[in-house]
Amino acid sequence: MQSTSTIPVLRVALPVPIRQLFDYLPCESSVSPQAGKRVVVPFGHRKLVGVIVEVSDNSDLPFNKLAKVIDYPDGETLALTRELLDLLKWCWRYYKHAPGEVVFNALPPVLRKIGGMIPAPPLQYCLTPLGEARLLEPVGRIKAQFAMLESMSKGAVTDTQLRALSPSWRKTLAHLLKQQWVHSEIRQAASLNPARGHAMMEEQKLAVEAINLSRGRFQCHLLDGITGSGKTEVYLLVLEAVLSQGGQALLLVPEIGLTPQLVSRFTERLGFEPVVTHSGLSEKQRLQAWDMARSGLARLVIGTRSALFLPMAELQMIILDEEHDASFKQQDGFRYSSRDVAVKRAAGLEIPVVLGTATPSLETFSNAVDRRYSWHRLRQRATGAAQPRWRVLDLIQQTMTGGISSIAMEAINETLEKGEQALIFLNRRGYAPVLLCHECGWHGACQHCDANLTWHRASRRLLCHHCDNISQVPLMCPACGADALQGAGEGTEQLEQVLARSFPQTPLLRFDRDSVRRKGEFERLAAQVKDGEPSLLVGTQMLAKGHHFPRVTLVVIVNLDQALYSADFRALERMGQLMVQVAGRAGRDKLPGEVILQTHYPQHESLLTLLTAGYEAFAADICADRRAARLPPFSYQALLRSDAPEKNDVRRFLDHAKRSFPAGGAMIYGPYPAMMERRSGRVRWYLLVQAKTRSSLHRQLDEWIMGLPRLSTARKVRWSIDVDPQDY
Ligand code: ADP
Ligand code: ZN
Ligand code: ZN
Repeated sequence: MQSTSTIPVLRVALPVPIRQLFDYLPCESSVSPQAGKRVVVPFGHRKLVGVIVEVSDNSDLPFNKLAKVIDYPDGETLALTRELLDLLKWCWRYYKHAPGEVVFNALPPVLRKIGGMIPAPPLQYCLTPLGEARLLEPVGRIKAQFAMLESMSKGAVTDTQLRALSPSWRKTLAHLLKQQWVHSEIRQAASLNPARGHAMMEEQKLAVEAINLSRGRFQCHLLDGITGSGKTEVYLLVLEAVLSQGGQALLLVPEIGLTPQLVSRFTERLGFEPVVTHSGLSEKQRLQAWDMARSGLARLVIGTRSALFLPMAELQMIILDEEHDASFKQQDGFRYSSRDVAVKRAAGLEIPVVLGTATPSLETFSNAVDRRYSWHRLRQRATGAAQPRWRVLDLIQQTMTGGISSIAMEAINETLEKGEQALIFLNRRGYAPVLLCHECGWHGACQHCDANLTWHRASRRLLCHHCDNISQVPLMCPACGADALQGAGEGTEQLEQVLARSFPQTPLLRFDRDSVRRKGEFERLAAQVKDGEPSLLVGTQMLAKGHHFPRVTLVVIVNLDQALYSADFRALERMGQLMVQVAGRAGRDKLPGEVILQTHYPQHESLLTLLTAGYEAFAADICADRRAARLPPFSYQALLRSDAPEKNDVRRFLDHAKRSFPAGGAMIYGPYPAMMERRSGRVRWYLLVQAKTRSSLHRQLDEWIMGLPRLSTARKVRWSIDVDPQDY
């Protein structure tokens, strides 16, 4: 039944995992109901915060069944702009996710809750004429008050700056305000005061000109530049152009790439502090960043994935650094690719978007090859440093110590003797990836996952890297009682120990999630390395990104062989990207660099292409393979993932779902077990839907998904849709 009347019906997004909006009627209030405003509504026995997504004049329900809004907590202030609502609507349709969860993902956590409010505009403080006079008056000075007055003598200051003065700054400020020595005003946007950069190199100049030329319209740029080729410099130049004309800009970086080093480089060059946001901030800080973006006070925001959804009325450019990075795809809940949504947002706003990387993802690469993106190559290192030399070490018949061959050991020794630094890369933390009994073959496996327990020797624990399972290391074999337990394989903890034994005089720093737990620890270690004395760095991919270590001249890649013959068709692409990133750490400055790759497969074709012809040729090669095999980006995929404690429930649901798949251009395959079938005590399987065109994929998915909640077998499992999946 459909009801129509002059009373508006509000379609509200609520934070519940249901694929629909909910209809409400407005309450008596002076506030006009409008799309983008937050509301408080009754939902079952609860009250929930929601966001009005649409105002309509009809409902599928009779009007007398519709509940009324309880409150508009922000009055006339919009929580989401029209532009963001349109983007979010596109997102829930494209990613087939519950609208409420998509909308709430775009709000800072405080605003998802009842009681949370959009804050008043932030203030700044300046001296009054009375205050200026007081500053010159020596009698009766109180130190704290004068320090505060002094801090304002060169211009307005913010509460963040005042907080740094003393813990009791609030009390002091209140006094100064009462005396009318100081007055407050609404904060002004930071003004650009750029420092001079380098003279541009030819390649940089071409890229900057092309990007600047595309201002005011939608254009996707691939900035494809080797490590050290001056990509960041290009970002700074194009940002300067946007910001100097009153625009706002957004720079998205991978989780691991958001370092204080990066932020201070931007601050120094642009002459103001960008607003930084990531999931590690407190709720209050996130709300502040959101509000600064919304009010236009934030001219430049640097953030991780979720910063993409910040409201910015003057947004004129989006830049994604390290566009290939896996952390741009959210891997649970609302599984979106922030790269693809960034492109979508730029298209909607008719602004340029810049994707920067040394190792383009195949998706981006093929868009550039097909000229949908304009492609700017930077192939010269800006500092003039040479590209590192590769040396492939066939591991057959090598003497090994804890994973390092004697030849690599010798090269490390030579590097240290020259007074330089070496970096040893292994993407596996812990001491050994498995603990084995040499009598009976028992090995430590996780009870909840299809995974071995990693032996962390220093902390005397066996740890599952896939769930939170922790156990003590047994003294004897739990199966046969023999005293024959040994680690098999090696992790960074073992490398550290082996290297410390071989080079006892050399400072050694380990970078991985175990050694770098405390905040600021990474920065402290990095600063130590930059001091430049001969030293050894051991680490996981934490070391591969962002940081510039000028005195590293040797990189040893201990082992990446698993990726060469993985069942995951993306493993090779990721391995190539990782290798190039790690190699990029060598010889960034004046000193030439060398990279040693240890492998059992020195003749692997793709490996050879990468090493002899470079990443672009490597990418073109695997692109050709993917095209031949009709894999993405030459086809479009979606998964129906399902998990439950019992395998039978999952299988039954997926078989059932498969039978209900509508006919059309898209084909359905499976069910298949996930790469890791059991994880955290749940069995995980999936169905794969694949199509030649995006449109047929989406048409069939939409039809299919509508019926899934009604399948009787759906009640015993969890299920979700993953469009453009990145892992299986
Ligand atoms: P990427 O982001 O591609 O790794 P960066 O922008 O960090 O490269 O540049 C690498 C180094 O080269 C930095 O120290 C930077 O200051 C310097 N640099 C960048 N562009 C130039 C240039 N045109 N002339 C001289 N040095 C440059
Ligand atoms: Zn045993
Ligand atoms: Zn586990």
